[in-house]
Amino acid sequence: MYDPLVDANPGRAQPHAPSYWADTAGSPVADDGPVRGNEDVEVAIIGAGYTGLSCALHLAREHGVRAVVLEANQTAWGCSGRNGSFARISGGRVPLAALIERYGADTARQYFNEMRQALDTTRGLIRDGNIDCDAQPDGVYKVASKAIHVESLKREMGLYNDLLDYPARFVEAADLQAVHAGAESFGALHMPDGFSMHPLKLAWGVQRMAREAGARVHTGSPVTAWTSSAQGHRLVTPGGVITARKVVVATNGYTSRQLHPALTGRILPVHSQIIVTRPMSAAEKQASLPGADCMFDTRNLLFYYRRLPDDRILFGGRSAVNGRDAENPLHRERLLAALCRKFPALQGIDVDYNWGGWVAVTNNSLPHCYPIQGVANAYTGGGYAGSGVSFSLQTGKRLAQMACGEARPTPVPFLHQAPKPFPFQSFLRVGQRMAYAWYRFKDAERASV
Ligand SMILES: Cc1cc2nc3c(=O)[nH]c(=O)nc-3n(C[C@H](O)[C@H](O)[C@H](O)COP(=O)(O)OP(=O)(O)OC[C@H]3O[C@@H](n4cnc5c(N)ncnc54)[C@H](O)[C@@H]3O)c2cc1C
Repeated sequence: MYDPLVDANPGRAQPHAPSYWADTAGSPVADDGPVRGNEDVEVAIIGAGYTGLSCALHLAREHGVRAVVLEANQTAWGCSGRNGSFARISGGRVPLAALIERYGADTARQYFNEMRQALDTTRGLIRDGNIDCDAQPDGVYKVASKAIHVESLKREMGLYNDLLDYPARFVEAADLQAVHAGAESFGALHMPDGFSMHPLKLAWGVQRMAREAGARVHTGSPVTAWTSSAQGHRLVTPGGVITARKVVVATNGYTSRQLHPALTGRILPVHSQIIVTRPMSAAEKQASLPGADCMFDTRNLLFYYRRLPDDRILFGGRSAVNGRDAENPLHRERLLAALCRKFPALQGIDVDYNWGGWVAVTNNSLPHCYPIQGVANAYTGGGYAGSGVSFSLQTGKRLAQMACGEARPTPVPFLHQAPKPFPFQSFLRVGQRMAYAWYRFKDAERASV
């Protein structure tokens, strides 16, 4: 599997990962095929995931700029076509209490507001573009996988209610059974906003809107070299050279260390993996996920899961540390064992789909959109830490504003700062391996209390 810390680029015209989404999305929407010949453009965007496609759409629709998107493989070949399908009020992975402690209550409020707007942006795109992406009703549960997590979930609810004036509520274990049966559910924090959908259909819908508004999306066109001069940027693809006055980098967790030195070391690609079971019987459904809401738990290495419209369970979590180990069947087995621990009635259930992808984690576990330091007229956004469906669509919109001259389109200071490079680059994965071992130990400890 492509490993951004090892390989020069993600390949060229590679097919989608063998996901449930790729299998059930139907026919792809039209794109503009590979770049053929050299061309001069105003704005080039590298990467056709939600960030890049949303940026192209907003540039065309709100600013009259017809950008060209350069995608190495297929539209939404990266995270955007293979994620867990939850569009939530989320971005990055910093608990609310820690966010307040780090940046203060005002900034936490402004950031929460930006995350809410991100969900509104997502809903707005689905509505305005009539995107048929199987969007499910709202409802997100953060499930206490241990009894000792209940108090902190209640404290978190208090912060949502009192500081953010947001109607999160705590659901007691007995009441939770109506939507989440089985073991390891000691109560949950319920967020009324947030829904699941078909992520690849969503990406294709945004691409259709962007192209209708005047953008072009070139698939099979990896950027293999990037140089800049006073005349602008020169992006080399196998089919031709694109010169652009401005560049937006939307490669996120798939950013190779070799794309540009100014980006190197600022994002750690972390592998997240998903299994999808065979369709469940009515009895199995009743004993696992009678509801169709978005679920994730309170582990350090958390699991996220939902019931799909055809009664399969999608179940995901952290897995391999590097690309070489990503196909190791051990990770699929670990996920299945975790699923069956939660829902003992599913013991022995067949797994029909199994795939993974690289989420982007930054040094502060928070997202960003900023002008790239030392490179004129170049911007980038990402770092959503596995919580980026809605926030990447919002970041694309913010990057479009930045490319059109708005220095700071949000009031949230940390969003517009470049993430610090990780220290001890050569040992990143050694550290990650040790952290995983420690978290697995802590998560397994006293699981039943
Ligand atoms: C298994 C998994 C589950 C997830 N579940 C959820 C979830 O339930 N909810 C949620 O909110 N978030 C989830 N996420 C995260 C979410 O999917 C991402 O944050 C979001 O899709 C990021 O979109 P993006 O456009 O920034 O990046 P991507 O969608 O990753 O797109 C980057 C693109 O850049 C391209 N690229 C890279 N290098 C080059 C180059 N040199 N030239 C041209 N193109 C290049 C890649 O091919 C890729 O298509 C999940 C991610 C994974 C992997």
